Amino acid sequence: MSVAVRFAPSPTGLLHVGNVRLALVNWLFARKAGGNFLLRLDDTDEERSKPEYAEGIERDLTWLGLTWDRFARESDRYGRYDEVAAALKASGRLYPCYETPEELNLKRASLVSQGRPPIYDRAALRLGDADRARLESEGRKPHWRFKLEHTPVEWTDLVRGPVHFEGAALSDPVLIREDGRPLYTLTSVVDDADLAITHVIRGEDHVANTAVQIQIFEALTNSEGGGAVPVFAHLPLLTDATGQGLSKRLGSLSVASLREEEGIEPMALASLLAKLGTSDAIEPRLTLDELVAEFDIAKVSRATPKFDPEELLRLNARILHLLPFERVAGELAALGLDDADAAFWEAVRPNLSRVAEARDWWAVTHAPVAPAVDDPAFLIEAAALLPEEPWDLSTWGTWTGAVKAKTGRKGKDLFLPLRRALTGRDHGPELKNLLPLIGRTRAEKRLAGETA
Ligand code: GLU
Repeated sequence: MSVAVRFAPSPTGLLHVGNVRLALVNWLFARKAGGNFLLRLDDTDEERSKPEYAEGIERDLTWLGLTWDRFARESDRYGRYDEVAAALKASGRLYPCYETPEELNLKRASLVSQGRPPIYDRAALRLGDADRARLESEGRKPHWRFKLEHTPVEWTDLVRGPVHFEGAALSDPVLIREDGRPLYTLTSVVDDADLAITHVIRGEDHVANTAVQIQIFEALTNSEGGGAVPVFAHLPLLTDATGQGLSKRLGSLSVASLREEEGIEPMALASLLAKLGTSDAIEPRLTLDELVAEFDIAKVSRATPKFDPEELLRLNARILHLLPFERVAGELAALGLDDADAAFWEAVRPNLSRVAEARDWWAVTHAPVAPAVDDPAFLIEAAALLPEEPWDLSTWGTWTGAVKAKTGRKGKDLFLPLRRALTGRDHGPELKNLLPLIGRTRAEKRLAGETA
C-alpha cells in the first residue's frame, strides 16, 4: 500500500501557522514514507472561496518548499458528488428533510433546555410521500441528511490512540444543501476515497466529523465499491502562550505576514512547526530533508502546543547565523544589495535576526557614515598605521597590534574608539570582518572625522 495524504484547506482566507503546520506534518509524513502528498482546495463554499486565497495557499506552500505531487479542486468535481449522492439516496442512506433553520433552532433549544444533547430527531424519516408532496407544494426544498447507523464507531488514532463514539449519540449530518450543493462532510470523503488517501492527518477539531465520515466511507464502500477507510491522526491545535486559540490573531500569524512583514525564513517556520508539540527539541534545521529524517508521527504529543512568535524570531536568528550566502543571495538582491557577496554576508549574519537588517550594515560598509569621534589625536595616530591594501581578515589584527604597540592602549580603550569612528556605532559585527569591506579609503577618512 503506498502512502497518500492530503492537505485540504478551504481558500476562504490566508493560511496561518496553525493550517500550515498541518500541511507540513502531512508533507513530512508523505516524504518519510516515500508516499505522495495531495493539495486539495476545499472550495465548495462558493460565497467565501476566493481565487486570491487559492493563489496565496500555493504561494505559501511553495515558499516553504512543500511541493505537492497531486492537485485537486472540489469545485471541479460536482458531477462526481452528484453521482455519489444519487447512489446514497437510492440506498436510503440520504433522506430529504424540510425543516427551516428556524424550526431546527427551536428543536435544538428545546432539547438543550431539557438537558438533552441536540441530536436531530429524524422527524423527516417519518414523512410519507403525501407529506413530502404537500411540503414541496408549499415551496419547500429538501436538504439531505445522512442516516447514521446506531452502532459504535471506533478507530485507532495515530495521535489519540483508541477512539470510540456511539452512532446514536451523533446527529445525522446534512450532506446536501437545499440548493443542491454538497457539503464538506460528504465531498471530503468522496475525494479521499476516489484519490485513495491512506492517512487523514488533521486538527482535533475534526474528531467528531471523523466518526460521521467513517460511516460515510463505509456506505460508499458498500454502494460503490469505493476506497477503504483511511487511518486517522488528529493533532491538538496550536494555542498562544496563554492557552487561547490562535483565531483572534490570525491576520498577524498568517504565513504571508510572517514572510513579508516579520522577515521569517521558511526554514525557521518549518523547524519550529515540525517539532512544536512533539517530544523532539526545537533546533534550527537548514533543510526539509533533515526534518523528514527526524519525523515520526508517534512523537506528536496530546498536550496542547503553544506557539510563541518570539520563539520563532529567535529561531530565525539562529537559522540566519548558519545560512550560507547562496541561500540568501536572492533575498539580499531583493533588498537592493545587488553587490552583496559571501564576505559581506559572513561578516554581518551573526548580528541579524532578520535578513532585512543586513541593510543597516550595508550602509556601514558601502555608504557614507558619519563617524563618532571622541579622541581625534588617537584616531590620527591609528590612521597613520593603517596597512596598505590588499586587506583581508588578518588586517584588523595586524593593524590594531601596531596601534597597541605605539599607543599603549588595550581592550576597550583601544577598540571602542576605532569601532565608533569606523562604523558610527558602539556595537556591530566583528571589525576583523568589516574592515576589509569598508576599505582603506573610507577607513582613513572616517578616522580623520570625515563622513565617508
Ligand atoms: N477544508 C477542511 C478544513 O480546512 C479540511 C479538513 C480535513 O482535513 O478534512 O478544515
